[in-house]
Amino acid sequence: MKAITCPACRENTVSTSIEKDDFVFRSGGVDYPVSAEIPVHVCSSCGESFISEIGETARHAAICRAMQRLTPQEIYELRHERLALSRKSFAALSGIGEASLARWESGELIQSESNDNLLRLLMSDNNVQVLRELRRTGNDELVPAFHPSPINRGPIVVTSQSRTLDFTRYSAIKETDHDRVITARGHFRLRLAS
Ligand SMILES: [Zn+2]
Repeated sequence: MKAITCPACRENTVSTSIEKDDFVFRSGGVDYPVSAEIPVHVCSSCGESFISEIGETARHAAICRAMQRLTPQEIYELRHERLALSRKSFAALSGIGEASLARWESGELIQSESNDNLLRLLMSDNNVQVLRELRRTGNDELVPAFHPSPINRGPIVVTSQSRTLDFTRYSAIKETDHDRVITARGHFRLRLAS
């Protein structure tokens, strides 16, 4: 590990200890009690104490955990290691903005609860597959056919792991919708939500 230089006196007489840092982080009007363990550096020449980027990262991760949000490192691992996608490709797949993604991964911003949920759902291969197939069709017109309508007996959900839709139960679907659903059968498997 590279020797740490004191930012005050420029000496390399810096030692590091792990300090407990308990504080309250307020976000969206909610107080989150945070308990962080942060490497703190102290210079024995001049007495200066400071934290480095590692400390900032540890502090940010502790805040994320207190808010039950993925840490920047976890988001990076999801995108880069698990899915092996560039930011651009991940943005295209998920609909998340590339710039937002960069801010979450760098710790500049913490993702909202809904975006955090989306990220967590993308940890499941089935969910990723649903989006991959949707993007592959390049046809947004397919989407309305899956929305619940008054003639359906229940909401239809898209899943990559279920039987195909029984069209005989949907005889009241008007012809155009029916055609569209049949067209979609090659790309999606549908099931009735229980
Ligand atoms: Zn110093």
